[in-house]
Amino acid sequence: MRASLPVEIRFESIGGLGAHLASQLLAESLVLRQNLNASQFSSFGSEKKGTPVRSSIRAAEKNQPIRVTSPVTRPDVLAVFHEALLARPATLAGLKLGGVLVVNAPAAAADLPLPRGRALVVDAMAIAMEEQTRINTAILGAVAKACPLIDPKALAETLEGHFGKRSPKLAQANGKTFWRGYREAVERAVEDRPDAPAPERGASSPRWGYFTAPLGGAILEAGNTAANDLSVSRQGFAPRFNTARCVHCGVCDLVCPDYCFVWEDIRLMGIDYQYCKGCLRCVESCPSGALTKEREGAWTRTERVPLRQQKAAR
Ligand code: SF4
Ligand code: SF4
Repeated sequence: MRASLPVEIRFESIGGLGAHLASQLLAESLVLRQNLNASQFSSFGSEKKGTPVRSSIRAAEKNQPIRVTSPVTRPDVLAVFHEALLARPATLAGLKLGGVLVVNAPAAAADLPLPRGRALVVDAMAIAMEEQTRINTAILGAVAKACPLIDPKALAETLEGHFGKRSPKLAQANGKTFWRGYREAVERAVEDRPDAPAPERGASSPRWGYFTAPLGGAILEAGNTAANDLSVSRQGFAPRFNTARCVHCGVCDLVCPDYCFVWEDIRLMGIDYQYCKGCLRCVESCPSGALTKEREGAWTRTERVPLRQQKAAR
């Protein structure tokens, strides 16, 4: 059954995961292969990797003009490229009642903070690792499953055309990734959990405005990097620490740009994953193999050694 038009889709991602390209290819497919009218654009920060990326796609009938050029605030389909983004209220803002949420997370993840309503969970990272591609085409497969407007065959052909220009092998691998994302996306209806957030929350608005800003532009609460959470900057991997292999040489601490390593006198105690952005420089530098590159999981929360807590214990 074809969805009623217009349809609005929003991708929430972080730089480096390929959300912008995915949204471009989706809009291209809607226009050139499905004979619809569509618009697409993305907004992102100044850095190539690690900063929030938001893509908006609108689709309408061929003769139906799309006059709105602002970001999609009330999406029918909302795709979240990294499960850590779910913790940010702005990620889910505006999802329509009856809208569909697509989330990249392990299918078995039981503690996802999903809003009430329909959700599709796809382990795009696992698929991309197995097929040696990126997660964006797997998520496109899940988005095609979530949105009846999208013709998955047309989108697969668009991907083949795009990646085929670079190499037939890449086209084949991305085609496989797309169809695996389509097939392996699992429905997760969240209705009964009383603590589940309601969908259709309004877009987050700034705390201070014309009528509420303190006089003289006074800063009432100074910023503090202790509240920084860089975990949403990671692209699926983090360093894992093996105490038994560590020789406490400190090389990892020298190369880490975010001071994530926690020391007790001259002994390395572990990593504070709140500040780790997953650049993996430490893994490349460790001479003893005490740090290994591993796929992110709940262990980054359970094995975290909080800097402040550790300092307070001294
Ligand atoms: S570089 Fe490796 S061996 Fe040296 S302190 Fe860091 S984790 Fe331990
Ligand atoms: S991956 Fe290693 S070097 Fe990079 S931020 Fe995390 S702890 Fe620091």
